[in-house]
Amino acid sequence: MNDHLSGQRFETVAIHAGQEPDPVTGAVVPPIHQVSTYKQDGVGGLRGGYEYSRSANPTRTALEENLAALEGGGRGLAFASGLAAEDCLLRTVLSPGDHLVIPNDAYGGTFRLIAKVVERWGVSWSVADTGDPASVREALRPETRLIWVETPSNPLLGITDIALIADLARTAGARLVVDNTFASPYLQQPLALGADVVVHSTTKYLGGHSDVVGGALVTSDAALAEELAFHQNAMGAVAGPFDAWLVMRGIKTLAVRMDRHSANAARVVEALQAHRRVSRVYYPGLPSHPGHETAAKQMRDFGGMVSFQVVGGESAAVEVCNRTRLFTLGESLGGVESLIEHPGRMTHASVSGSALEVPGDLVRLSVGIEAVDDLLADLTQALG
Ligand SMILES: *Cc1c(COP(=O)(O)O)cnc(C)c1O
Repeated sequence: MNDHLSGQRFETVAIHAGQEPDPVTGAVVPPIHQVSTYKQDGVGGLRGGYEYSRSANPTRTALEENLAALEGGGRGLAFASGLAAEDCLLRTVLSPGDHLVIPNDAYGGTFRLIAKVVERWGVSWSVADTGDPASVREALRPETRLIWVETPSNPLLGITDIALIADLARTAGARLVVDNTFASPYLQQPLALGADVVVHSTTKYLGGHSDVVGGALVTSDAALAEELAFHQNAMGAVAGPFDAWLVMRGIKTLAVRMDRHSANAARVVEALQAHRRVSRVYYPGLPSHPGHETAAKQMRDFGGMVSFQVVGGESAAVEVCNRTRLFTLGESLGGVESLIEHPGRMTHASVSGSALEVPGDLVRLSVGIEAVDDLLADLTQALG
């Protein structure tokens, strides 16, 4: 990390960490090092440790240093997708016979990776309501090595008290991993609250422009970081140089984007709550949300994700998704443009029939940073 950044604030770190002007040309933005291999000055004479781009690439290094700084961690690792990052973490810390606890509203892809892939290698798992410490305690076994937390969760915006579950994990001899994708490091810093590892889909708010797929791990545990880095190289699902550059470019505006996402979402929530065709709104910023106090304690603001249930059941919810014009019907989230989707049939189709199934009348919004009055007008016309 750049030493002159120590003590500086998030917005400054986001723009500068890992990104000194290029020593040769003075370019203020790190170049895209679109290269696979590096000239050695005699056998083993590496320049700056670079040997082969799966092992390390300067553009990826810049992003990884930046991510570590943003999360207040010792080491960041960038991957080809959020799921590639998760796979690397799971296969690094778990062995056959081990057990992990997963949340009852985990991202569908996370659930699929654990239940359909990792389980085949002799790892078992239990589902818990991570918002309720008693439920987590009940799910623990002597062989539990990992507790997985997503807060706010996807798509029900459930809130987990990170510090509380971190204590529980420590007592149980398990590691706590927090998927920080929905909050981003600007709104929430799980490592400072006791988490061992932070996971990101950088595809979402960190990239922020719906133009790249990527993932990341950040940890302050130096020994674990070494193991993760070994597996990152051994398994090979690294972020390519252009993808790393795009995520870095997105991160420079993360703070201003998250402020606007949060402000717009608060207005959307207000409008939805007042609408007669909306039966329930899920947003941690609402005082009536069961996790509101915890969210207020561990988050700077409440973010841009909003879910709601539509009066009239599943077909009415699908209809609303089909009728918006400005909110684009699509999966993913966290970009500058507003998106709408039906989790039951789209992002969470893979958890259908499991303990993680979501209500059929649920609609999820990724509230973008457009003019909020245009967003409200679109939702009003779509709800009819
Ligand atoms: C999208 C997402 C992932 C998976 O990331 P990919 O980049 O799509 O592989 C994991 N967790 C959450 C919360 C997500 O939204």
